[in-house]
Amino acid sequence: KDRTPHEDAFHQAVSEVVPDLLPLINDNEDYRTAGLLHRLTEPDRVISFRVEWRDDDNIVQVNRGHRVQFNSAIGPYKGGLRFHPTVDLSMLKFLGFEQTFKNALTGLPMGGGKGGADFDPSGRSDAEIMRFCQSFMLELYRHIGPDVDVPAGDINVGAREIGWLFGAYKRIRNQFEGVLTGKGLSYGGSAMRTEATGYGVVQFLGHVLDHKDDSIEDKTIVISGAGNVATYAAELAVERGGKVVTLSDSGGYIHDEEGLTQEKIDWVRDHKAKSGTSLEAYADEFDATWHSDEAPWGVTCEIALPCATQNELDADGVKALIDNGCIALIEGANMPTTSEGKKVVADSDLLFAPGKAANAGGVAVSGLEISQNKMRRDLSRDELADELQTIMKDIHDKCADAGTDGDKVDYAKGANVAGFKKVADAMMAQGVF
Ligand code: NDP
Repeated sequence: KDRTPHEDAFHQAVSEVVPDLLPLINDNEDYRTAGLLHRLTEPDRVISFRVEWRDDDNIVQVNRGHRVQFNSAIGPYKGGLRFHPTVDLSMLKFLGFEQTFKNALTGLPMGGGKGGADFDPSGRSDAEIMRFCQSFMLELYRHIGPDVDVPAGDINVGAREIGWLFGAYKRIRNQFEGVLTGKGLSYGGSAMRTEATGYGVVQFLGHVLDHKDDSIEDKTIVISGAGNVATYAAELAVERGGKVVTLSDSGGYIHDEEGLTQEKIDWVRDHKAKSGTSLEAYADEFDATWHSDEAPWGVTCEIALPCATQNELDADGVKALIDNGCIALIEGANMPTTSEGKKVVADSDLLFAPGKAANAGGVAVSGLEISQNKMRRDLSRDELADELQTIMKDIHDKCADAGTDGDKVDYAKGANVAGFKKVADAMMAQGVF
C-alpha cells in the first residue's frame, strides 16, 4: 500500500486473495523463497497514453488510455477494455490481477491483462465513439498482437466498439490477425462469445446448486445490470425455469413481479443498445415498477446475481438478501461485493461464488476465438456451447476441490488457490529475471 497509495480497488482485490494463499505459500519451501506474492502483485508492464479525438462540434477532446499487462506466465496477456469515466490505474490493476487467476482457471493458455480509458460514451454519437476507438488504437496497436496481448470488450466496449478497434488495427498494421476477441462473426469472431459470460454464470450457478442437490427451476432470481452479462444471465436463467424479477442500470432498477421473458429481455437489449438510455422505460412498457437511484438487493429472492459493476453490493445489501431468504450469491460482475459485504457472507450459510470463477465463460470462449483465428477455422455454435459447458463444469470442480473444508465449499478460496498454483508453478519454472 505504501508503494501504491490511492489504489483502493487494487488493494481490495489483493487483500481478498492473499489470506487464502498465505498458508499454501508458508507450507511450501519453494513458494516461500520465490517472492511470489510480490511478483504476482506487480504488473509486468503498465502503459498509459493520451487519446485525442474531435467531437461533433469540432472541438478536440483528450482522454487517458491505459493497458495493464499483468502476467504472461501461462500465455499472452488477455483481458478486456473498459470505457468509463471512472477508469483509472487502480481499477485496471484490480481487474488485471483478477484476470490472471480467472484465465488460469479456464485451463486455456492465457495470461492476465486489462485496459481502457476514462472516456464516457453515454450521449456521444456513433461517429464520436468510432473516432475515439480509432484514436485509442493509434497508440494501443504497438503494444498488442496475437502472441503478445489480445484485448476484448468490457463495460461500454461491445461488438460494435471491437469492430471499430479491429478496423483501426488492421488499417494501421495491414495485417488481418486475431488481435482482439469479441469480433463480429463475419470477420473472425466466435459463435457463443456474446452469450458466454452470462450463460457461464448461470451454468456455474447450476453446478453450485447441483452440488447441494438443488436446481434453478422455480427459484426467484434478482439480477443487477442490464448489459451483456446481465441480459444473457437472465436469458439462460429463464430458459432453465428460474423467475428473474429485476434488472438495473446506473439510474436504478426495475422490479417485474411477473418475471422476465425472452421478449422482455430482447426489448431491454434493443433499448439499452442506444447510447445513454435508461431502463426506466421498461416500467411503462411492461407494467413493472421503477426504483430510481436504488439497487435491487432488498427484493425477496432465492438467488442473487450481481452483474453490473464492482462494489455494487455492500454489507447492508448482503444482509437484506439473507434476511429475505436468499440461498446463493453468484458474482457475474468483477468484484461486485464489497469487502464488508464478503464478511457478512463469510458469517452466513449463503452459497457464494466469486466473479473470477463464475464469470470466466466469456474469456474462455475468447480463448477459443484465439485458437480458431490461429487455425483460420470456425467451430460451430454447438461445438462451442459444449466447450463452454465443459469448461464451466471444470472450473466449478477445480474450485470445489481446492475450497472444500468439511461439508462446506469455499469457492472463493478454491478459485484463489487453484488459479495461483497454475500461475505460480509456471512462473517458477521460467526463472527469476
Ligand atoms: P455492459 O457495459 O454491457 O453493462 C454494464 C451494465 O452495468 C449496464 O447496465 C450499466 O448501466 C451498469 N453499470 C455500469 N456502471 C454502473 C454503476 N456504477 N452503477 C450501477 N450500474 C452500473 O458491461 P458487461 O455486462 O460486459 O460487464 C458487466 C460486469 O461484468 C463488469 O464488472 C465486467 O468487468 C464483468 N465482466 C464482463 C465480461 C463480458 O464478457 N462482457 C466478462 C467477465 C466479466 P448503464 O447502462 O446505465 O451504464
